[in-house]
Amino acid sequence: MFLNKMLINGEWISTEKTMDVTNPATEEKIGSIPNGGAKEAQMAVDAASEAFTTWSKRTAEDRGRLLMKWFQLIEENIDELAEIMTTEQGKSLKEARGEIAYSNSFISWFAEEGKRIYGETIPASSPNKRLFVQKQPIGVVAAITPWNFPAAMITRKLAPALAAGCTVVLKPSEETPFTALRLAQLAEEAGIPKGVVNVVTGEAAPISEVWQNDGRVRKLTFTGSTRVGKILMSGASETVKKLSLELGGHAPLIITKRADMEKAVEQAVASKFRNGGQTCVCTNRIFVEESVAEEFTTKFTAKVAELRVGNGLDESTDIGPLINKSAVDKVKAQIEDAVQKGGEILTGGHALTDQKGFFIEPTVIKNATDDMLCMYEETFGPLAPITTFTDVDDAIRRANNSPYGLAAYVFTEDIKEAIHIVEALEYGIIGLNDGGPSAAQAPFGGFKESGLGREGSRHGIEDFLEMKYISLGL
Ligand code: ADP
Repeated sequence: MFLNKMLINGEWISTEKTMDVTNPATEEKIGSIPNGGAKEAQMAVDAASEAFTTWSKRTAEDRGRLLMKWFQLIEENIDELAEIMTTEQGKSLKEARGEIAYSNSFISWFAEEGKRIYGETIPASSPNKRLFVQKQPIGVVAAITPWNFPAAMITRKLAPALAAGCTVVLKPSEETPFTALRLAQLAEEAGIPKGVVNVVTGEAAPISEVWQNDGRVRKLTFTGSTRVGKILMSGASETVKKLSLELGGHAPLIITKRADMEKAVEQAVASKFRNGGQTCVCTNRIFVEESVAEEFTTKFTAKVAELRVGNGLDESTDIGPLINKSAVDKVKAQIEDAVQKGGEILTGGHALTDQKGFFIEPTVIKNATDDMLCMYEETFGPLAPITTFTDVDDAIRRANNSPYGLAAYVFTEDIKEAIHIVEALEYGIIGLNDGGPSAAQAPFGGFKESGLGREGSRHGIEDFLEMKYISLGL
């Protein structure tokens, strides 16, 4: 279940040095992975580069068929994959199964979408010329993925890459490598040829440096922190690679007096506490119109207080542990800072220190002000600060006052008000009366420092393609 080797050129490889992986709910060691470095990173690019020569030549239909076999195998192994994920990442089994289904939706979507990589013909300005545009796979793709969605962040990159005809070198997060390795094993079982998917585990920087500097890697796709995204962006300039970056977020959620309050409460809980608050699209700040603030706050707090914290393997758990101790420390520091600046804790507020595991209670704070850390620094944990407004335009201004621009949420039943707010928000994804907008067929990505490019949807495959213009003289 917990594979302890990495996959390069169809071979499962060990290294002398290894890294331990722990269960965040128990702090116990689950297993270990190879601590690969520059040598393995290089071998992976060699393999991917070799495999590209044949994989890129196969038809999209042929590649799509193999992707659908992979899809099928993932579906058949959903319970095992969910258990691996919960054990290494912490999220509840319910959420883990949901993530596997979500991950798989990228595979089936792109298996089809690969067949629709259309070109163009353009009218020429001379009668004896013909102008064509065709699209072709960009080449070897390097993918670096985070721990919060150990499966979905991988398939969202690998499925379009493979469908387009690219080959991949992947470095999953060292916190959650086992889901990635099992997915790769299923890809192999599905018949995806050797060298098309290579997984290198180990410390990030030495692996990533090799990929950054190797001119054969034509595209780097990354999901993770804005800090690392910036390092990769400058590193990729060395060989001018195409880049996709899905970075941090600081999602505002605006509720006006014209909202359907039951819906707003339910969706705010879902958006804030999904994965224990550890998603880049999780609500980070709640802005509620003064006249309905009390009603919202009371109902929201009551629902949050019902959330059950525990080991994700326990079926009754809603919220598992955070990924590690520093994640808990960050949330604790934000709570302390908020209280010091006048915030009032309505529920939660404590880390669970009398047991093993990185648990912290789902927390609601009212009277939040924009100078609190939680109102401008990404929380990545189960803390919901609530602030009020009397003027919608003021709420929009405050919501936009962030270097991030990934997701934002708006709750109102008034169509004019909705359009006004949605158009003014500087965010790439808007959930309008919807706390869960992500879908394989929709473009996911952010404005400003939240990233570059879009994943998912028909746009998501473009990032793995080069455009070739052919001018034919007759
Ligand atoms: P998070 O805070 O969500 O863990 P990170 O950006 O630290 O986000 O991690 C996301 C991915 O980036 C992980 O696979 C991690 O190993 C990798 N990573 C971390 N540091 C670097 C680095 N200097 N260069 C390349 N990748 C890195």
